[in-house]
Amino acid sequence: MFAIAIDGPAGAGKSSVAKAAAKALGFIYVDTGALYRTVALYMLRQNIEPSDAQAVEHALPAISVDLRHEADGQHVWLCGEDVTDAIRTPQVSMAASAVSAIPAVRKFLFSLQTGMAERYNVLMDGRDIGTVVLPNAQVKIFLTASAEERARRRCLELEQKGEPVDYDQTLREIRQRDEQDMNRETAPLKPAPDSILLDTSDLDFDGAVQRLLEIVRERS
Ligand code: C5P
Repeated sequence: MFAIAIDGPAGAGKSSVAKAAAKALGFIYVDTGALYRTVALYMLRQNIEPSDAQAVEHALPAISVDLRHEADGQHVWLCGEDVTDAIRTPQVSMAASAVSAIPAVRKFLFSLQTGMAERYNVLMDGRDIGTVVLPNAQVKIFLTASAEERARRRCLELEQKGEPVDYDQTLREIRQRDEQDMNRETAPLKPAPDSILLDTSDLDFDGAVQRLLEIVRERS
């Protein structure tokens, strides 16, 4: 099996770039952020505070999370319900960042991720894929962009979905999530020593996909 690990901060365009690159390569695209979002959604629905490690850990055995790949891409299921769209809200983003700092949550989602890489050629994106989940991935990329550029893109994306948000608020949330993701004790966001940096601040979407594919070709 061939694995490509893509890590990087929130809103760097990882998922859209990774999805397009996976399609070009004929690989399965695995968005691991969706798994943390699904656990977060469950906690919010149950009125469990996402940063309360004890309460979250206590609730985990009742949850079943499943990944399915359909013609339009990855779908994530929570206890038999397709929550692919429900997990894409700013509230779930913040809660996902909080639950993802809890070691029991990371452990809970670990084998689901490694299991995918055992069965398929994957292009997996997240925060700790090259460092923790798939340390033996053949290609590791750290995909990033400036916080301002990431906030600009996130605003544009939500505006296009008819859900306009405030730029300053979005930038604040991105910085807060970066801070949380980089400074947590378990599996912090950091480039694997053997990863290649891909900064997309000055690249458009096609440019970023092409550069990613070039890196994969150079390494395989
Ligand atoms: O990638 P996305 O923004 O959907 O991820 C949501 C949150 O899940 C991130 O802010 C991060 O805290 C967490 N996450 C993680 N490890 C991963 C993927 C996501 O901690 N591999």
